[in-house]
Amino acid sequence: MSKYSLILVGGITMKDSSELKLKLTGLSCANCANKIEAKVNQLKGIEEANLNFSTLQLAVKLQETVIKEEVIDQIKKIVQELEPDVLVEGETLGSDIHSLKKKNKSFSWKDFLSQNKWLLGGMFLFVIAITTNANVGLYLMAYFLIGGKVLWTAARNIKGGRVFDENFLMTIATLGAIFLGEYAEAIAVMLFYEVGEIFQHYAVNRSRASIGDLLDIRVNSGHLVTAEGVKTVAIEEIPLGEVIVVKPGERVPLDGVLISGESELDTSALTGESMLRYATLGDEILAGSINTSGLIKVRVQSTAATSTVARILEMVENASNKKATTERFITKFCRIYTPAVVLGAILVALVPPLFLGADFSIWLYRALVFLVVSCPCALVVSIPLGFFAGIGGASKLGVLVKGANYLELLNQVETVVFDKTGTLTKGSFVVSEVHGIGISQSAFIKLAAYAESQSNHPIAKSIVQAYISTIDTTKIVRYDEIAGKGIKTQVDQDQILIGNESLMGQYQVDIPSVESMGTVIHMVVNEEYRGYMVIRDEVKATSKAAIAQLKQVGVKHVVMLTGDRTAVAEQVAADLGIDEVHSQLLPHEKVEQVELLLKRLSPKGRLAFVGDGMNDAPVLARADIGVAMGGIGSDAAIEAADVVLMKDDPMGLVDAIQKSQQTTNILYQNVGFALGIKSLVMVLSIFGMATMWMAVFSDVGVTILTIMNSIRALRRP
Ligand code: ADP
Ligand code: MG
Repeated sequence: MSKYSLILVGGITMKDSSELKLKLTGLSCANCANKIEAKVNQLKGIEEANLNFSTLQLAVKLQETVIKEEVIDQIKKIVQELEPDVLVEGETLGSDIHSLKKKNKSFSWKDFLSQNKWLLGGMFLFVIAITTNANVGLYLMAYFLIGGKVLWTAARNIKGGRVFDENFLMTIATLGAIFLGEYAEAIAVMLFYEVGEIFQHYAVNRSRASIGDLLDIRVNSGHLVTAEGVKTVAIEEIPLGEVIVVKPGERVPLDGVLISGESELDTSALTGESMLRYATLGDEILAGSINTSGLIKVRVQSTAATSTVARILEMVENASNKKATTERFITKFCRIYTPAVVLGAILVALVPPLFLGADFSIWLYRALVFLVVSCPCALVVSIPLGFFAGIGGASKLGVLVKGANYLELLNQVETVVFDKTGTLTKGSFVVSEVHGIGISQSAFIKLAAYAESQSNHPIAKSIVQAYISTIDTTKIVRYDEIAGKGIKTQVDQDQILIGNESLMGQYQVDIPSVESMGTVIHMVVNEEYRGYMVIRDEVKATSKAAIAQLKQVGVKHVVMLTGDRTAVAEQVAADLGIDEVHSQLLPHEKVEQVELLLKRLSPKGRLAFVGDGMNDAPVLARADIGVAMGGIGSDAAIEAADVVLMKDDPMGLVDAIQKSQQTTNILYQNVGFALGIKSLVMVLSIFGMATMWMAVFSDVGVTILTIMNSIRALRRP
């Protein structure tokens, strides 16, 4: 979604950034992805470019002054130069996950053979050369057939001013071996490397496909009810307000309202909730859920692009555009690592022969082994894939994480701050007492319901519900909501002020002190105090357990903030085992409290705020990690938050933190394993105990193993 706003730059009016999304099909080298991203970022007129290695999506934010087509041409040029086999395509929103699945699933022997014919030919010659003790010529032919692609790429890259990539390293290493007369070894190493690359390519594609599978909850067509009967059409062709039929066993294609039939719906793909949800007339039905029993008709309320499923997929796709610190670190690390190893190799090759009189050919061989080990590919590939798998796995649990950086930060959460109403409590209040003064109970409720009828606040909704009859909204003449306090409105001829103690204080209204437990809502009609009502909220069934489990997964401090009365707040806090509570806060005071809490964090600790999006959007934005709950329907919460819990359940935060821990553990394992094996082989090579074979394994083999490990982040922790 691009935002348009007008800004003035040097007297010229222009629109700010628009976005461009391209797809780089066939890209399987993460190193190259990083290079392409860096180069595109250097282009003129580009605000930010992000290449998502897992979805192959290149998202570019453009300044409005540039012409899109020109930028696309320039990007194509860059890609052509760095990776000639990669295809640059335009892209339609949300198509990503789908195409991931299709493209990467199919494996055909025909393609495989035609792509690798030179390699296979070279292998054949190589076998003949070994078995017949052939001359140098045959060996060299086999070498060039097998390694031609690597040699060619290395040469091309050097011409483009890019040395130190793995093609270059393999070229030097194998040419060195040939120079030493080790023909068979040179060929074998090149062969091993190439075969490893092919495996790696398939491993990356398999992983992408399994992530795609997991998120494949989209349906492309629906059964539209028309004058001529029911027709099955593409979802893009179903207009808002039309009726579709969803048969038992089918996935719901678009969001809507159930208008006929009843059924049990499986919403697990959206919320991670495995219990079936019973839906009947008037219930909201979300795209992506499965109709498990009856035939239902649904009046469509979303388009293909705005349905719940489309929004989830878009968020997951965009998530890895926000790179985690670890990812950035590895990219930077590799930039230093490779040249450093090359320098090390030169020292290994030269120092002992020059200063210690050692045999040059022995040390040259050791240096070459050292060089091959240096390819940092394992780290570069497995980390973005790991984060993407983690984000995919989280979405399976009903936790939408809006960036790899947030998935990483969740692991460091030290303080969790909860909003009370609607987050820890159900937010569905029940009116338990009504004390009208000079007004009947039913008249009190009627006026209160009219006054609250325009508000989305959970309190307002329950007051409206307590008044059984329908509300004639034409009677609402004026309406002002005072956040965290209440409402000022005019209904017909009556000026109504309804809200809490602090609102009454603001208007200097004398109120009685109320002992009852619960939230007290006072009402003033035409400047006369008309009494109060007490409404009760219940804590959610899982709140207490969620708080206990948060402590178990490493959260140190749990805080509750609320605009409600101190008495109620303290009771709830005591029931739930909350460490610290602040009550009677206005929305901006919640921000201030969060700022104070942020100051109390330890240097590495992070603060997460969990709210329902009512009166707390500024706090969501201020916290290190803003978590919106039950955001499945609400755009505002989804916009403001960094993490969205689809289920209306604080337990979702525990899932989110556990997923983060699982993902970061996997990535640490990968980094430790890769660096461990590499440094071991490097040390061994200096002592002459490592062969070229071990070196190639420590590059390609380790890469494949770490990719496979990364994919574990998809599964439940
Ligand atoms: P919380 O922090 O618990 O989520 P809010 O900040 O949303 O609560 O609201 C704080 C208090 O303001 C409520 O407990 C209630 O007393 C009062 N209030 C807020 N909105 C309304 C409303 N629409 N009608 C009456 N009272 C309201
Ligand atoms: Mg609230």
